[in-house]
Amino acid sequence: MNTCGLCGTDTGTSHLCTRDAVRLAARLADLPTLYDELVQCLVPRRYGFGEIVATKAAAGPRSPLDEDVLDTMGSSGMEAAVHAWRVDVQRVRWPHHSPPPADGLAADCRWLAMELDWIAAHYPRAGELAQEIRGLEARARDVVGDPVPRRKVVGQCVAVVDAEGTVCGADITHSAGESRLECRVCRTVYEGQNDLLLLLHYQPEQTV
Ligand SMILES: [Zn+2]
Ligand SMILES: [Zn+2]
Repeated sequence: MNTCGLCGTDTGTSHLCTRDAVRLAARLADLPTLYDELVQCLVPRRYGFGEIVATKAAAGPRSPLDEDVLDTMGSSGMEAAVHAWRVDVQRVRWPHHSPPPADGLAADCRWLAMELDWIAAHYPRAGELAQEIRGLEARARDVVGDPVPRRKVVGQCVAVVDAEGTVCGADITHSAGESRLECRVCRTVYEGQNDLLLLLHYQPEQTV
């Protein structure tokens, strides 16, 4: 007889009860979004991304980076922690495979979510895994806010990103309360009336 590694209820042969497995799946689905929001929190509104890169070396008491966010992303290492779980699950399930290469948080979360049935049924550390994911999520929500602010697509980025004149074209999103728009791909900031007019003016034609 096994018990759920998280809540201790009897589970028959499983290592996670159905309820906690479902919750873990939801957390794995949310984590990449939270991480993305955390990265946004790293760049305070008054700084452009270029300036952040330039001032990073001189980080100290005047560091423009939010220490809480750095801590959540850095020392507690969300990305590294999730990857380590993927490595371990794979090691237990397929001992002869070589460990998976670093592939980014979103890919690791997807992989773990896809293996969740096996994890709940056969992975002895399933409870520990669920607990750590729950902790990572809680810490991220402390910084980002709960619920995660909903973002609305307002248009496509019109910044030219290389010498050939390629336009970035990524979706520009906005969430309530933000006073400026920032492209999450090329980091162009649109702020103030002129920038916004420019953004509107160069929007691609609607193809309906
Ligand atoms: Zn449980
Ligand atoms: Zn862009």
